[in-house]
Amino acid sequence: MEQRVEQIRNNLNRVRNEIEAAAKRAGRNPDEVQIVVVTKAQPIDVVRDTLLAGAKILGENYPEETLPKILGLKDEFAVEWHMIGHLQSRKIPIVVEWFQMLESLDGVDLALKLEKRLADAGKVLPVLLEFNVGGEASKSGWDVSREELWEGVLPDVEKILTLPHLRVKGLMTMPPLMEHPEQSRPYFTRLIKLRDFLAKRFHGVDFSVVSMGTSMDYPVAVEEGATLIRVGTAVLGPRPAKNLSS
Ligand SMILES: *Cc1c(COP(=O)(O)O)cnc(C)c1O
Repeated sequence: MEQRVEQIRNNLNRVRNEIEAAAKRAGRNPDEVQIVVVTKAQPIDVVRDTLLAGAKILGENYPEETLPKILGLKDEFAVEWHMIGHLQSRKIPIVVEWFQMLESLDGVDLALKLEKRLADAGKVLPVLLEFNVGGEASKSGWDVSREELWEGVLPDVEKILTLPHLRVKGLMTMPPLMEHPEQSRPYFTRLIKLRDFLAKRFHGVDFSVVSMGTSMDYPVAVEEGATLIRVGTAVLGPRPAKNLSS
């Protein structure tokens, strides 16, 4: 146990050092970058050790898999839980009740359903808009792989910005899986360019949060402007097989 906490702490320190170096290379303030440790498929004892090692923000993809972890740890730790996977409508209640941010808001229909549930609960949920920068059919989010498509996204964004119980904070993306980190760079620059495009169109809206970069390419994401990086394996090692996760 002790040893695992120590190992996770070392990994977190290594990631922080990499963030610092990358921020420095880009002339950025490293304090602008926060780590989301992705604990999907990890059993609760590993998640507890992650929190003991100092993690503050945890990312999960499946609300029903996360709920027992949230309930089991809520009396011991103040955790910021981020939903980072595609949210199915029927899982909305779990997210509304227990998560602090939805990074993966990927459509107007979902936004409207969330708004209704949040209004009923009297809650406001911080969200990021998920964009599909690679245009892959397998990925969620608005297709922004070509700049000609950007104008077409504006009505959806405008609609979501009118919903009083959703608080748009910025953008999120999961680019195509690449062999080398450097190959992710054009996708990261695309998301930042899109952010600037949206900020210009929607004056006064705060799009300052940019969630991009995973274990394999987060230093490049930080160089390009990420404020949240989502790292799992770089901190916790390989994920266990799914049937061991609960
Ligand atoms: C699993 C996952 C991550 C983390 O991936 P690692 O390779 O373990 O760092 C980040 N973002 C999303 C959306 C994920 O599903």
